[in-house]
Amino acid sequence: MSESIAMIRDMLPEMLLKFDKWQTGWHEFSIDETLKVPEAKAKDVLNELIDRLADNYPFFHPSYAGQMLKPPHGIASMAYFLAQQINPNNHALDGGPATAKMEMEVVSQLSSMFGYEKYLGHLTSSGTIANLEALWVARELHPDKAIAFSTEAHYTHGRMCEVIGASTERIATDASGRMDLDDLREKLETSRIGTVVMTAGTTGLGAVDPIDLALELRKEFSFRIHVDAAYGGFYRLLAGEDGCLSKSSAAAFRAIAQTDSVVLDPHKHGLQPYGCGSVIFSDPSVGRFYKHDSPYTYFTSNELHLGEISLECSRAGAAAAALWATLKCFPLEAGSGLGAILHKTRRAAVSWAKLISSEERLRLVVDPQLDIVNFYSLTAGTNVSAICSLTHQVFKELMNDRDHPLYLAKINLKPDMFRNHGELIWDSEMLTAFRSVLMKPEHEDYVNRLHQRVLSTLE
Ligand SMILES: *Cc1c(COP(=O)(O)O)cnc(C)c1O
Repeated sequence: MSESIAMIRDMLPEMLLKFDKWQTGWHEFSIDETLKVPEAKAKDVLNELIDRLADNYPFFHPSYAGQMLKPPHGIASMAYFLAQQINPNNHALDGGPATAKMEMEVVSQLSSMFGYEKYLGHLTSSGTIANLEALWVARELHPDKAIAFSTEAHYTHGRMCEVIGASTERIATDASGRMDLDDLREKLETSRIGTVVMTAGTTGLGAVDPIDLALELRKEFSFRIHVDAAYGGFYRLLAGEDGCLSKSSAAAFRAIAQTDSVVLDPHKHGLQPYGCGSVIFSDPSVGRFYKHDSPYTYFTSNELHLGEISLECSRAGAAAAALWATLKCFPLEAGSGLGAILHKTRRAAVSWAKLISSEERLRLVVDPQLDIVNFYSLTAGTNVSAICSLTHQVFKELMNDRDHPLYLAKINLKPDMFRNHGELIWDSEMLTAFRSVLMKPEHEDYVNRLHQRVLSTLE
């Protein structure tokens, strides 16, 4: 049995018994007939479910080094499952008093990690919704101004600006995929921009925008900064002086403390099941924008309800319970807990990048800034169309290997990402490169194997 499943099997029965004591402590009643499912039927359905789930790629395994996907930690799964038996709704304190408190505790930990002194924040059901809230507040504060983000920013920023009716400005990126501050300066000079979205870990390349240097621009121009750290946010833990991140990335992460808002997805690097994003504002007074009157939801409490500072209404209290339990076991520390995991994922990317750089036939697209590695092969020549075909072919071959499949992802990149790659002949509009997200600590020991397999497939 796999270790992760064994952990759940060994612990969950005891916890269910303990949980059941609370449930059976209430005045006795019987489950209604209409809700009953014959055991044989339930088993049939669950068996079919398990069969159907077998069409997934092995996200749990280090041989899956493709997209941003991995299962939650067992502690998160168990906490979620147990809390879900009650199904608290963190919209209102009465909907889930315990999990609402847990949400406040974890948001306070996240906000301390980023160095916000005061804050207002909450969990959300995703990074997209968390960013939507930050963009909406940006528009409320500067209704006549544009929201700027780089061409490498997550695609949902453009879409969400359409939803809230905000005008946008695209900022170019430099050869590392980071926001180009010369272009930003030029666009700030038009006085059109109210808020700049900076990404701490872009989804494609893992590039970290120079947040610290953008703060310098605030001495000349007046604008807000929202940080989209949905993917990379937990890397703030490694932004001390130990050289795990590059100096520029570390400085960018430390500078988040001086920004106006930040978004972080615990369902990416925080070991959580999907349904867990977060948004935090450094100025608690933005809570005034959320003001609304709802006749149904507030019963007994005079305290701030999470539903009063959130765009969404119902949200899983179980998600807060899962993150709370996870951070108890994996605290937000640099050398242990979550930091120890990130040290390994970061080292995995650094060592694979080194192997790739030492190989005549392979080229890195950019030096990895976090744990995402992008590269291509010159085995088929320097024509971009030939490079693309090779990427598709090797990607497929690795995935379809019967004995030992390996899973990478692909990324389509525009010529301006290759300004420093002189040898390419552009007979195609985009270059399809390999993209690998090394977000499991087991990847540190696995990258040698990934590398050798890629090389042998290229032969
Ligand atoms: C994943 C991601 C998002 C979107 O978050 P979801 O949780 O998928 O909605 C936004 N920005 C960045 C940088 C991301 O990596």
